[in-house]
Amino acid sequence: MTSITTYAPGRAELLGNHTDYNEGYVLAIAVDRGTTLTGQARTDRRIRIHSRELGKTEIVALDQLAAERVSPWSRYTLGVVDQFRRNDLHVEGFEIEVTSNLPLGAGLSSSASLENATVLFLSQAFGIKLEPLQMARLAQKAEHDFVGVRCGLLDQISSLMSRDQHATFIDCRSFDVQHVPLDGRVSVIIANSGVKHALVAGEYNERRSDCEVAARALGVPFLRDATTEMLKSRKNDLADRIYRRALHIVGENERVLAGSEALRHGDVTRFGELMYASHESSQANFENSCAELDQLVETARKTPGVYGARLSGGGFGGATINLVEKGREKEVVKALTSTLPNVSCLVTEAADGALACAKKH
Ligand code: ADP
Ligand code: MG
Repeated sequence: MTSITTYAPGRAELLGNHTDYNEGYVLAIAVDRGTTLTGQARTDRRIRIHSRELGKTEIVALDQLAAERVSPWSRYTLGVVDQFRRNDLHVEGFEIEVTSNLPLGAGLSSSASLENATVLFLSQAFGIKLEPLQMARLAQKAEHDFVGVRCGLLDQISSLMSRDQHATFIDCRSFDVQHVPLDGRVSVIIANSGVKHALVAGEYNERRSDCEVAARALGVPFLRDATTEMLKSRKNDLADRIYRRALHIVGENERVLAGSEALRHGDVTRFGELMYASHESSQANFENSCAELDQLVETARKTPGVYGARLSGGGFGGATINLVEKGREKEVVKALTSTLPNVSCLVTEAADGALACAKKH
């Protein structure tokens, strides 16, 4: 059997916070590290997966796939196999070695990178032709059904479809994807605060329902359909909290559009200002920041060479993302890591997504 190698990177959200489930806009990048699968098809209808990072092996019969029968880490891969089967995409048994240079569970979506690498492996091993969006949906559905996490489609799309030196603009209603040139002179630094505050899931659900309440009160299907102007004219009809939640989302959508324009004009300074504005809105309106993330953004503001910084991802702990002038990375990492005891930094650039990587090799 011929050996096959596939790769899919992790991703980071550059601008556009909690906009996905409001059918809004996001700018993301693929990072320059990810998950690699190497292996081949088998003829005995068995699947063998080995993860080098975890030092664990999972062996299961293709015809006995069920989430509750397999260990949690293998569900990201086996969930994809399950989706192929549910969609009548014919697969056989196989064996793979999983290796990764992404930190797991650190908000860079090692999960989507593992799922995407699996989609690519199966399509190559069993000669199945898929469209990019179809690939992303198979990966997303695997995470919904087998892992039990109702993730959006962003992670899978940005890990698959990004291009190096470009930000990936995603319209979370149509899933239209555009590549916006990112000035080649910038690096991205992800600063993981090392803190995860309790109640994240509860807070997340509460934010989602606040957004739904706001949309209903404004008479629009989703906050994507509201503007800041419309919102301000209706301020007195909304409870203060609901108003501020909506202000954040509507503002984020406007900032993503303005940010894309700024990047198209090569104006990284303006883009950085929008990142800071996003963080301020998280603090004041969406209340999904915390002291540690605020401190990291404060440090970024004071450090030469940083264009902009903001919390990235859900919030309530996790990481900040910093847009940095190339050549200044070391000083910035030093400043960020000395802000708090448990900060770890990852320096990356806007990298190729899995499809662009596959084309080049
Ligand atoms: P994130 O996507 O932010 O990295 P998640 O909790 O969504 O965090 O996904 C991380 C999980 O994905 C890990 O706990 C593990 O179960 C699985 N995973 C990711 N990469 C690997 C790998 N290389 N080997 C085994 N499991 C992995
Ligand atoms: Mg994940």
